[in-house]
Amino acid sequence: MDLEFDRRHIWHPYTSAINPLPCYPVVRADGVMIELEDGRQLVDGMSSWWAAIHGYNHPALNAAATEQLGKMSHVMFGGLTHQPAIELCQRLVEITPEGLERVFLADSGSVAVEVAMKMALQYWACQGNQSKCRFLTLRNGYHGDTFNAMSVCDPQTGMHSLYKDVLPRQLFVPAPQTRFEQHWNEDDVAPLADMLAKHHHEVAALILEPVVQGAGGMRLYHPQYLRRARQLCDEYGVLLICDEIATGFGRTGKLFACEHADISPDILCLGKALTGGYMTLAATLCTEDVASGICQGQPGVFMHGPTFMGNPLACAVANASLALLDKGEWRQQVESIEAQLKAELIPLRKLENVADVRVLGAIGVVELHQNVEMAGIQKYFVQQGVWIRPFGKLVYLMPPFIIRPEQLSSLTGAIAGYLSN
Ligand code: PMP
Repeated sequence: MDLEFDRRHIWHPYTSAINPLPCYPVVRADGVMIELEDGRQLVDGMSSWWAAIHGYNHPALNAAATEQLGKMSHVMFGGLTHQPAIELCQRLVEITPEGLERVFLADSGSVAVEVAMKMALQYWACQGNQSKCRFLTLRNGYHGDTFNAMSVCDPQTGMHSLYKDVLPRQLFVPAPQTRFEQHWNEDDVAPLADMLAKHHHEVAALILEPVVQGAGGMRLYHPQYLRRARQLCDEYGVLLICDEIATGFGRTGKLFACEHADISPDILCLGKALTGGYMTLAATLCTEDVASGICQGQPGVFMHGPTFMGNPLACAVANASLALLDKGEWRQQVESIEAQLKAELIPLRKLENVADVRVLGAIGVVELHQNVEMAGIQKYFVQQGVWIRPFGKLVYLMPPFIIRPEQLSSLTGAIAGYLSN
C-alpha cells in the first residue's frame, strides 16, 4: 500500500496533516481478527469504535448486503419507500424503550444527534414557545463532531475553545459522581435539579449518554441518576434526549442502557452497532407526542432529509444484525466478557500508574495517571498481536461480542504487560 500517499494526502480522525501518527495498513478482517498487509494478525479490542459487535466478515451480514445489492443499493427516500427500511423501523419501534414510535433514519451518529436537537427545537417552536432554545447536558459527555453535537460535548475535552465564537452556548452540569456499582447518593442529582429549577424556561431538552459516558471520559454512572433525570424533565417540562449511539445494542449488558433505569426518553439516538459495524447508518426515534407536536405547527413538516436517508443496503444489513441479536446469544457473551474483564483488569488497580479500572458489560476501562504516548503504545500493542487504540489517559477494551476467552486474555494481557513495563 502507498503509505506515503496516505501520509501526505489523507486525513485520518483527529490527526495532524503535518506530522501524522503512523497508520497500520489492513487488508482483511474476519471474526475478531484484523490482518495487516505484512500478514500479522491482530485481535480486535475496539469493535471499530463500538460498532462491529458480531465480528468482521460475518456470513449473515455479508449475505444480507449481497442480496440487497442485487435488488438496489439505494433509491431516494423522498416519495419512495422500501421493505428494508420498513422492516428495520418496525424492529426498532419494537425493541427500543416504550413509547418511541417514530423513526428518522440518518446517515451517522452526529447527524442523528443534530436531528434529535432539531426535533426538540422545532417541537417547542411549534407549541409557540420560542424561548426554549438551549440544551442542557452533562460535563464529560460526547455527542459527535458536527456543530450542534459539539456544543453539547464536554467543554474541556471537546473542541469548544477552537470554535467558541460560533458554537451555540449550552448549559452544563457536573458529570454524575456516583459510580454504577456504588450506593446511590441523592446529592448527585442536586446540580441538575438546581439548573432545571433556574433555567427550565429556556431549555428545550436535556441530552445525555445513559449510564456510560463514552468518548468524553469512559465514565460509568449510577442508573438512578437517569431515573431522577427523567423525573426532573417531566416535572419541569423539558424533553429528554438519550444518546445511545455508543451504548445501544447490548454493549452494557442490556439491549439499551436506558433499561438499567427502566426509563424511556422522548428522543433516542442510535448508530454505530446498528449495522453491526458494516456501514454508516443511524436513527433518531421519538414519541408520538414529539412527532405530532412538531407537525401540528408551521411549517407542518420536520425539516430534515439527507440524500442517503434510509439507504436500503445499510437497512438490509441492519436487519440482519438485529436478527443475530434476536437469537439472544449476545446476553451470555456480554456477561462472560464482563466477568472476564473484571477478573483480568481489576487487579491492575494496584499498579502505581493506574488511577482507576471500570468494567460494565463488554466495556473495560483502565484509566492512567498520565496521558499515554500514542505512537509508542500503539506499536507495543501491534507487536503483541492486538488492536487497542487508547486516548488520553484511557486504555480501554470493547471487543466484538463473539470474542473467545483466550483472545480476550491476549487483550487484557497486552494492557497488563504495557503497564508493568
Ligand atoms: N454520540 C456518541 C455517544 C458517540 O459515541 C458518537 C461517536 N463516537 C457519536 C455520537 C457520533 O457518531 P458518529 O461518529 O457516527 O458521527
